[in-house]
Order: sequence, then structure tokens, then C-alpha cells
Amino acid sequence: MMHSVNPATGETFASHEPLDEQGIESALALAEEQATKWRLTSMDERTQLLSAIADRFDAHRDGLAEMATKEMGKHIREARAEVEKCGTALRYFAEHGPAMLEPEKIPGGKGELRWLPIGPVLAVMPWNFPYWQVIRFLTPTVLAGNVGLLKHASNVQGVGKLIADMVIEAGGPEGLFQNLAIPSGPVAGIIKDDRIRAATLTGSEPAGRAVAEVAGGALKKVVLELGGSDPFIVMPSADMDDAVETAVKARLQNSGQSCICGKRMIAHADIYDEFAERFTEALCSKRAGDPFDEESDIGPLSSEEQRQTVLDQLDKAKKAGGQLTGAEKPDGEGAYLHPGLLTGLDPAGEMRDEEVFGPVAMLFEAKDVDDAIRIANITPYGLGSAVFTSDADEQEAFITGLDAGMTAINQMTASTPEAPFGGVKNSGHGRELARFGLHEFMNLKSVFRA
Ligand code: NDP
Repeated sequence: MMHSVNPATGETFASHEPLDEQGIESALALAEEQATKWRLTSMDERTQLLSAIADRFDAHRDGLAEMATKEMGKHIREARAEVEKCGTALRYFAEHGPAMLEPEKIPGGKGELRWLPIGPVLAVMPWNFPYWQVIRFLTPTVLAGNVGLLKHASNVQGVGKLIADMVIEAGGPEGLFQNLAIPSGPVAGIIKDDRIRAATLTGSEPAGRAVAEVAGGALKKVVLELGGSDPFIVMPSADMDDAVETAVKARLQNSGQSCICGKRMIAHADIYDEFAERFTEALCSKRAGDPFDEESDIGPLSSEEQRQTVLDQLDKAKKAGGQLTGAEKPDGEGAYLHPGLLTGLDPAGEMRDEEVFGPVAMLFEAKDVDDAIRIANITPYGLGSAVFTSDADEQEAFITGLDAGMTAINQMTASTPEAPFGGVKNSGHGRELARFGLHEFMNLKSVFRA
């Protein structure tokens, strides 16, 4: 049984019976059957469905947001914003997607390139943005003419079901998008099944490795959006008020549980003391509390286990010589953890490989641009990065020097439908969103004409 447990109270409020072998077989058969039909639909039919799904997101915003907050603890205002963002992305692709699939000429008048569907794709998704992560998969699936099967994280099965129900309500045919209520055990068998053509996973590095190994053995393409330990660099020419405020926002979004949270703050020596003092004050004055209370700055972590993971990381950091400010664990029910800051760590030390998925930042001092880039690139991850500097040469040096899929200048990293999203190194490969994400799971056919 998979349980929906409210991390704010510890209460189990729903249980979901996992699909058995027969249930999985039926879902695969239905996906295969629908794939032969959906690939023949017109672009109009596909974009109308995307718009109709967007309407459902808008119409049900508050109920959808409530389910996310209850299942994984994000603050209700962030949950509402996530639901709204899904509608925006669906509409963006309904409007701009068809142009991304226009045939292209092969130079020399030899023929054309056509974007064709590849069939059923499996998505293994995490709990941290339980709607948005799925929409990043569902939207290109519908538009490409593929069909999708979702294996959502075990703790957000309620969200998974709501999304699948909305696709049907919006007029999507049976089998176009199925929510498979399963734990991770059956995933390998599903990927190996001949009816599945590709897989995508967003989540931790170990989960990514597991899925990539199976998919590699079965010769199936994978897109992996894995962890990040994003650098957030502040240089002397930065607007300090903006840098401090944005650093706090970047670290605390989703209670610190986002792959693109600024997790390692790196301040230039000339402004290190000022940034450290102001950032510590601003970060540690924020409070974790009831995610339905507008007064709370952040909600609880997604589960008691997730909080324990972060607390273990903090112990490890302290043993490695780190000084911890804040990060108090409140008494009583709920997986709450107040924001905190670690200083005094060696950037290449024991915490180098850790993705701290909670509201605690690390702060490092850099001598100059090269040193900031060295510290930023020291981890095995390479997802996002943010740089605060008004110096154009420095901006250029960071754009070329930072080993990351995304660099945000004088702002925090964020995902948006117009721009490709993804990483390098152990943060995964492939891209979601924009035309690059749409093309990942398509057959780019070269058509030669005599
Ligand atoms: P996981 O990476 O384990 O879970 C993400 C998804 O992968 C879930 O659907 C999960 O299913 C599935 N999964 C896990 N292991 C396997 C496997 N071997 N084969 C197939 N599917 C698998 O994240 P956790 O919830 O365990 O969180 C642990 C850590 O992962 C966090 O502390 C954080 O560091 C990182 N994480 C990063 C995310 C990101 O966006 N970068 C998102 C989520 C987590 P199930 O839930 O059933 O186990």
C-alpha cells in the first residue's frame, strides 16, 4: 500500500493500492493501442486538448494546490503558483508548439526533416513539484503524438491521480496518459518491455543511475533531470540588497527542496563579511510553520524521512568542521526545520557531493572570479547557477566558466516553458521544455525525395 502522509501533522489521510502485474500489463496494452491512434491526430486536436487541460488546472486551482500541500508540505501559496504555472506552460505549447514541429528542408533540395512520434514513454517523477514536473512531460507527450505513463513518487499518488483525471475530463482518450500507482520496484520491468520506447526521470542521482542502467541495457533513450547543488555567486559590483534578498528566496523556495535552489553561496572576499552578516540575518529570521498559514515563510519538509536526511547531512557537515547557525528543529508534530546556514566548510571536503534538500545554505569565500568558478564547479553536479555582478567581463567569464546547464545573471535560476531546462555532469542529460524538450522523444525522420 502507498500512503499519503501529511508532513505537517504526520497523519495518513489516504492509501493507494498499487497496481498488480495484471494491472500493469493492462496499462501497457492500452498505451500501445492508444499510441497507434494518437499519432494520427491533427495538430489542432492536440493543441485543443492542451488548452482544455490548462482550463482544468485553472478551474481546480485551489483543490489541486491543497492536495500538493497535504501530500508533500509545500506552502499553499507556492502550491497555487505551481498550479498556475502548469496552465501557463500548457497554453504556451498549445500556441507555439506546432511551429516547433514544422518540417525543415534538407539543404540542397534533397528532401525534408519530419518530427514524428516514437510511441509510449514512461516518466518517473518526484514529489517536490508534483504538478509542474509532470506537466513538463505531459505537454510534449500530447503534442508529439506520443502516449505517456506516469510513475509518480509514492508519497504524491493523490496528485498523480488528479492529473490523470483532468486529462480524461479535458477530453483526452483512455490510454493517452495513465497514472500507474506503483512503487519503484516494477519500473525496471516496464522500461524493458518492448511496448515502452523511452523513459524520463526527475529525482535523485541514485534513482537516475538505476533507470539509466536498465534503459541502456534495453537500448532505450533516457532524459535525466537529477540533483543539483547550485552555486549562487555574489561579486563586489552586485546590488547587495537584491543579492541578499534573492539568495534567501533561492535557498528557501519549496522549503529548500528544489533541484535548482541556490544551495552553495559563494561571496567574493571584498564583500564576504557584509554578505555573510546580512544573508545570515535575513535567512535565519525566516520561520517554518503551518503551510496553510499565510504567515509562515516555509512549510515542513516533504516527510519525516526527508527531514532526517537533512539533519544527518548537518551532523556530517559539523563533523567536517562546519559551523551551523539556525536550522533549529521545532518540538512537536510535523517535519519542520527552520532555515539555517553552514560556514567554515572546505568546498572540496566531505560535503562536496551532498545535495542538501532542505532550508540550509552553505557559504564560501572566493578570492576572485577564477576562485569563484573553481568552487562553483567543484561538485559532481552541474544543473543551475546564479551570479550577481554588474561587470560585463565577469558575466562573460561566468557564462563560459560555470559547468552548468543554466546560468542566471542578477536573478535566481527558474524554469520557464520558453527555455530548455537540464544539466551536465551528474545532474543528468537531455533537456525539458522549449523546442529541445519537445524534440527529445521524437523520431526525427529524414525524408529524401527524388
Ligand atoms: P528519489 O529520486 O528516490 O525519487 C524520485 C522518483 O524516482 C520517485 O518516483 C521514486 O519512486 C523513483 N525511484 C526511486 N528509486 C528508483 C529506482 N531504483 N528505480 C526506479 N525509480 C526509482 O527521491 P527521494 O524521494 O528518495 O529523495 C531523496 C533525495 O533525492 C532528496 O533528498 C534529494 O536530494 C533528491 N531529490 C532530488 C530531486 C530533484 O528535483 N533534483 C527530486 C526529488 C529528490 P518512489 O517514490 O516510489 O521511491
